[in-house]
Formats: sequence, C-alpha cells, structure tokens
Amino acid sequence: MIIKTEKSEFGDYLADASNIPGGAAERVFVPETAEEVAEAVKAAEGPITISGARTGTVGGAVPFGGSVISLEKLNSIVKIDRDAITVTAGAGVILADLQKAVEAEGLYYPPDPTEWSCQIGGTVATNASGARSFKYGSTRDFVRKISLVLADGDTISIERGKHIAENGKLRLTTHSGREIAAKVPTYRKPDVRKDACGFVSGEGVDAIDLFIGSEGTLGIITEVELALVPKPSGSLSGIVFFREESDLLDLVRAAREASFATRAGRSEGIDAALIEYFDRHSLDLIAEKFPEAPEGMAGAVFFEQETTDDNEDALFDAWNELFEGHNAEMEQSWFAVSENDLAKMREFRHALPVAVNERVVRNKQKKIGTDMALPDETFPSFLDYCRGKLDSSGLEYVIFGHIGDNHLHINLLPKDDNEAVRARHLYGRFIAQSIMLGGTVSAEHGIGKLKSRYLYVMYGERYLNEMADLKRAFDPEFRLGPGNMIDRKYL
Ligand SMILES: Cc1cc2nc3c(=O)[nH]c(=O)nc-3n(C[C@H](O)[C@H](O)[C@H](O)COP(=O)(O)OP(=O)(O)OC[C@H]3O[C@@H](n4cnc5c(N)ncnc54)[C@H](O)[C@@H]3O)c2cc1C
Repeated sequence: MIIKTEKSEFGDYLADASNIPGGAAERVFVPETAEEVAEAVKAAEGPITISGARTGTVGGAVPFGGSVISLEKLNSIVKIDRDAITVTAGAGVILADLQKAVEAEGLYYPPDPTEWSCQIGGTVATNASGARSFKYGSTRDFVRKISLVLADGDTISIERGKHIAENGKLRLTTHSGREIAAKVPTYRKPDVRKDACGFVSGEGVDAIDLFIGSEGTLGIITEVELALVPKPSGSLSGIVFFREESDLLDLVRAAREASFATRAGRSEGIDAALIEYFDRHSLDLIAEKFPEAPEGMAGAVFFEQETTDDNEDALFDAWNELFEGHNAEMEQSWFAVSENDLAKMREFRHALPVAVNERVVRNKQKKIGTDMALPDETFPSFLDYCRGKLDSSGLEYVIFGHIGDNHLHINLLPKDDNEAVRARHLYGRFIAQSIMLGGTVSAEHGIGKLKSRYLYVMYGERYLNEMADLKRAFDPEFRLGPGNMIDRKYL
C-alpha cells in the first residue's frame, strides 16, 4: 500500500469537479486490496474521506482534514459471468473500462453518467444515473452485491434480497460476527423518476440500498457485482434541431408517451433509451467546438433508440414521422449511421457540462447548477417558472439534460461576485419551487458538501436526525465522509 504524506504528492486528491476550494488532508492511503483498505482505516485513526475518480460535482470526495483513502488500485474486473449476465469488479475500475470489457463479451452495462472516467465504486456511492436512466433506471437497479469495509475496519458483504428491513429495522452481521442494528429513516421520497437525495427510506428496505447513494458516509465499497443486459444489436440516434421551443417540448412529450406505451405493451415501436435536451444557450456555448451545428435554433434533442435487424427500418420511419410532425429541422439535423457518428453525438452531449465547468473556472466562480427532477404533472410549470426568472435576471445561463426524466440541469454562469450573489439567490428560489411542486433537490449528483443545507430544506430537522441515527449505527465515531450529506450539528 502506498501512503502519501507530502502535500506535493497528493494535491490532486484535494479537489473534485465541484471546484470547491480549501481541500486539505494529512495523508492519502492508496491500498491495493480490500484487506489493505481495512488496514488503512485502522491506521488512519481519524476522519476519512473516500476518494474515487473525483468526478463528483458536489464535493463529496473533497477532504477537509484527516485522511483520504483512494480506491484507484482496486481496479480489477474479477469476473464476467455470461450465464448469470453479471460482472464482478473492484470499486476502482473505471466505468469506461468496465463498459468496454462487458461489451467485448456481447453484454452491456446501461448506467451512463456521461462522465466515463468515474470509478464503479463512485457510481454506486452516488447512485449515479444519466441519459439512459430513461429506459434503464439508475445504478441502484443494477447492483446485486457489494462488499464493504466499515468505519472500524470490519468488513461486510450484502447481497440483494438477503437482508430486508422488518418494521423499518435492519439487522446485519459483519464478517467478524459483530451485530449491527439500524433503523431506516421514515421520510417520504418525492414521486420522481430519479432521486439522489439522502439515504433510502421506508419499511421494507433492502440493506444493499442503504449503501447505494450513501456518498461515502456508511462504508467503503471495495467490490460490487452488477447485473448486465444483452448488448443491443443496433441503435438509431440523432441530434435533432428545432426552430421553435414549443415544437421541441411537444416532441419530447410525444416521444415519452410512445416509449411508455411500448414498455407497457400497449403499442409497438418507439422506445427511446435516452431523450436529452439542449436549450439555445447550450448550443451557443459549445458552438465554438462544433462549428458544424446550425445557427439560430431554439434548441435540440438528442435521442437514442435500440434496434434489431428486423425492426430497424420501421423504427426509422416511426421516428422520422414523429420529428416531421413536430416541425423539426430535418435537413440540418444529424443522424448517426455509424459507431463514429454515435461517438460524435455523445461527445457533443459530454462537451456541454465540460464547457460549463471550464467557463466557471475561467470566471473564477463556483458552479451554480441545479440537479432537480420533478413529477410529470409539475415539470412544465417548473420549467416555465425557471426560464421566466432566468430571462429577466440578465444572467448568463444554459439549460440542458435528461428531459425524458423531467430532469434538467440549469447552470448559471455568473461573471463576477455581484452576479454570483444574484445567481445563488435565484438558485434558492428554484430549490423552493422544486420542493413546493413535489420535486427533489438532487436527482443524480447527490448532496455531498455543497447541498446539505438543501437536504434540510427538503426533509427538516426530524428526518435529518433520523439520518444521523442511521449513520451512528454504522459509524459511531462519525469518521467516514465528514461533511457529506448530513450537517455536523445533527451528528
Ligand atoms: C462532465 C461531468 C458530467 C457528469 N454527468 C453526470 C450524470 O449525468 N449523472 C450522474 O449521476 N453524475 C454525473 N456526474 C458526476 C459524477 O461523474 C458521478 O457522481 C460519479 O458517479 C462519481 O464517481 P467518482 O468515482 O468520480 O466518485 P468521487 O467523485 O471520487 O466520489 C463521489 C462520492 O462517492 C464517494 N465514494 C467514491 N468511491 C467510493 C467507494 N468506493 N466507497 C464509498 N464511497 C465512495 C466519495 O466519498 C464521494 O462522496 C458528472 C460529472 C462530470 C464531471
């Protein structure tokens, strides 16, 4: 195991994609096995921040003192089981490597947070989701088994379906035989398609779900077994441009309804794997990198549909008809006919959050980006509300993201401190509006250090105390992930 004690050796471990300043640590442990992770926990003797690939956007992997344990060397794919259609991997395996390895076996791992350099352990710890969650759900839906090192160095493995809470209480036994009794929080989760807001809750919770999305606060994930699906034989996708925003939004509504009808067996045909949105400001922001994009558009939709040789032509016609019926600019739109085209479209999608992060750094400001998802009934009014406030604010902004899941990222791009104050004020209003309309304050990025006060707004003191009680059951000295999710005063 490598132990880094000189700051000059471990500067990279003090920041993540959130750009929050002030990261500091005394040492960084880089264990190579689960046993070494346990040794590191014992040797660390104080607070521990768990580090994946640090692509998180809410500061979860940023330490403020104590030790860092990095999972980067637990990077072996242990087994791909073609019969069970699963993969077992060390927590430090990079998502892109896992995707490549399973695809070489004719299998497919759908959760895709559009940032492929993250680690599998990080995606489980944040319950990452992304574009394909529209069809496949989030990381949680694919986790079958996890192995963890707990805050005292003890270890535990949990398989889905084996430990279900009774009357809201869970009993688990660690590998050393220690019994842990934990009470599951009782708050009601918002009725949205995506939620990364605090621990799971409810009566009959599966223990494995407590750790998925726990953001490094309950245990250190060392290995995971993930379900896979057969690799789709083909796909049809495109980035389709619109001159009128209302046409674009109508198209999205129609594509969602058609997809839900297909999945419910009420019709055959359109079943989008992803439906992503770019507003006009997003197109402007990446125009420099993609000069071939048409000018003067109100926005664009990126869609992907899985196909087989048998249905490819019929699906192509069905999507064409849908776009033409909603006045899409077909001549200027891009449709993928090869893997290269598809890679370029994914790059276009990926370029946007990257461009936002670059702009934030260039403006020497903190990122102010929403991650809220809304129920079907209230999403349109939420979008209208936000756009109205944004347009009258005069601030620079972009809106893009997972519109299929009623989940858009509004990124405010203040140019100076004065604008930053106004942007934060607006952000607070969006949070309040989202909660009022039954939404979540974080659909996929998690709470980390940046959003813990919004968790308080969403759940209130009683439920934060319940979260603190749950943490106490696994980590009585509050060593893991200090500052993540639950404000110190509740611990
Ligand atoms: C350009 C860009 C686009 C993104 N798009 C999306 C998106 O569409 N959807 C989405 O969900 N996310 C997105 N993200 C956020 C990020 O990629 C995900 O949150 C990712 O899952 C984090 O993985 P990581 O390995 O980088 O974890 P880190 O950033 O290193 O850590 C994240 C959290 O998990 C904890 N953690 C990490 N590893 C472990 C472990 N082994 N055991 C226990 N806790 C652990 C950390 O302590 C921290 O709290 C995006 C990020 C970027 C930069």
